[in-house]
Amino acid sequence: MTIIDTHAHLDHLENLDQALKNAVEAGVEAIVAVSMDLNSCRKNLEIKKKIRQPRIALGMGMHPSEANRQDVGACLDLIRANAKELSAVGEIGLDFWYKWVRKDQAKKDEQREVFRAFLETAKELDLPAVIHARGVWRECLETAQSVGVRKAVFHWYSGPVDVLNDIVKQGYFVSTTPSVAYSPQSREAITSAPIEQTLIETDCPVHFKDPETEQEYQAEPRDVARTLKAYCALKQMDEDKVLAILNKNAREFFGIKV
Ligand SMILES: [Zn+2]
Repeated sequence: MTIIDTHAHLDHLENLDQALKNAVEAGVEAIVAVSMDLNSCRKNLEIKKKIRQPRIALGMGMHPSEANRQDVGACLDLIRANAKELSAVGEIGLDFWYKWVRKDQAKKDEQREVFRAFLETAKELDLPAVIHARGVWRECLETAQSVGVRKAVFHWYSGPVDVLNDIVKQGYFVSTTPSVAYSPQSREAITSAPIEQTLIETDCPVHFKDPETEQEYQAEPRDVARTLKAYCALKQMDEDKVLAILNKNAREFFGIKV
């Protein structure tokens, strides 16, 4: 059976050709390529046009760490011009994790303004939003709800369980990474999340720890199999059954055709 990586930064991979080859060999059927900023959107659009296998589903957006109001107009124009190529708006969101950001009111306001502009475009184009929320989960959820976005995934969710319950109640999704093998926050959240509203991903090229060897490795799309393995161990569920549900979730959520 094939597998889908629902969150990868393909434009950040050092050896993309090799990573894609490895992905095909590992049975990766599709990859959702998300973008960080204007330049990253352009690069991923080129990657999508060029690559046939695995299938590339494209997300364009502006990551909160790159939030820059000067580029919002150009980025939204690019999204509208390529709406037919898109499977999502993302990665977008709020990240108030670091103290220097929490103390910088102007930075926080800029993140909020940018996030809302992209959410409104997601709603306008009826595309799913791929949301990065860190240290500010409740506000991210409330913003998505207030804009009225129909579909959203809170990617690599490791926030509080009470917010998770409201995400689920709203019909939104959460996703998890290989960190679900060892991160207490990820494990607690994903234990509570219903499988019908869960996706798996790598967020590659992020570094993770191999739970058996304790060695660090740099993720690529094929490592979504590690997410699957850790997820099944945590949920104590059969791998084939889980994969069938998670594939269905990913295909329906992003409109990936088999
Ligand atoms: Zn990401």
